[in-house]
Amino acid sequence: GFNCGIVGLPNVGKSTLFNALTSTAAAQAANYPFCTIEPNVGRVAVPDPRLDKIAAIGKSAKIVPTQLEFVDIAGLVRGASKGEGLGNQFLANIRETDAIVHVLRCFEGEVTHVEGSVDPIRDAETVETELMLADLESLEKRHDNAVKKARGGDKDAKALVEITEPVLAALREGKPARTVAAKLSAEQMPLFKQLQLLSGKPVLYVGNVEESNAATGNALSEKVAAKAKAEGAVTVVISAAIEAEVAQLPTEEEKAEFLSTLGLEETGLARVIRAGYGLLGLLTFFTVGPKEARAWTVRAGAKAPEAAGVIHTDFERGFIRAETIAYDDFIACNGEAAAKEAGKMRAEGKEYVVQDGDIFNFRFNV
Ligand code: GDP
Repeated sequence: GFNCGIVGLPNVGKSTLFNALTSTAAAQAANYPFCTIEPNVGRVAVPDPRLDKIAAIGKSAKIVPTQLEFVDIAGLVRGASKGEGLGNQFLANIRETDAIVHVLRCFEGEVTHVEGSVDPIRDAETVETELMLADLESLEKRHDNAVKKARGGDKDAKALVEITEPVLAALREGKPARTVAAKLSAEQMPLFKQLQLLSGKPVLYVGNVEESNAATGNALSEKVAAKAKAEGAVTVVISAAIEAEVAQLPTEEEKAEFLSTLGLEETGLARVIRAGYGLLGLLTFFTVGPKEARAWTVRAGAKAPEAAGVIHTDFERGFIRAETIAYDDFIACNGEAAAKEAGKMRAEGKEYVVQDGDIFNFRFNV
């Protein structure tokens, strides 16, 4: 699966957010499977209104949304890269994640702040500095080795140096490795990802505001949004305290009513989950039948056999073809049978690149 690590300084609302994310999913009906893998790892359902429409048309008995994993990464403080706090443990945990949800405190309140005052931009820089220092340390040795090997004519080492060189230069200027990723070619990306640089991962900033600012944001969350915009990153404004309250309400109606009294259309969690999904460069395809309508996740750019393999490795191994209907056609024709009659069901081969919203039937040899 794909996962997002929730990072931030202590007392910014990470655990509150994580608990709200995971308890919301737990409170949902049995067909929204949620499981806690470890105390700090949770899988949450990705909200997708398309799935409900597909299930209604397909008269499916069960709805199974696709999921995203969140990891609550505690223990980052100033000096983590030098082993302060949970230092190394924290850095190892973050290395394993595919993307980072960076929670920034934008609420004032009574809660103690480790740095003595509320300043989300300073906090963001503190965290990023630790990530960049850790990257510098892990990269310098590898770079020196690669340079030596490249001089000896090693082609792989040369390809590596072409990445480590600009990354090191950026880090030394105080710029995160992800600023270099944007300039690399598609062929270079797998190698860049293999480096598992902490500052190389895509980032979503979450501005955590007080309850009364949940719908509007505040001056601090606006600063965060401006910073994100300048970096080409995404921001979501939430109030983790409200999310925690909403998560405790037993029914969807009560949740909707509580949100609307606050001027909110949907939970911040839904926005965080969707943004996380976008951050990871993922897309959704569907399968539908009388038993279940189900959403599945695959990376953008994947071809049909890889999508088949998400369902079952046998589907990928014995792949013959994919019969596919685009979501809009499925809806416009009101289902598979009519879509097929209207010539909207396509037979696609193994070079077909999956499109977001594809409804698939895979044909395969066993
Ligand atoms: P963590 O250390 O980053 O995991 O932070 P916690 O989630 O434990 O939150 C630290 C404190 O901030 C707790 O007392 C929370 O109740 C409080 N807190 C978290 N989010 C909000 C919020 O949106 N508004 C207010 N007023 N307090 C919050």
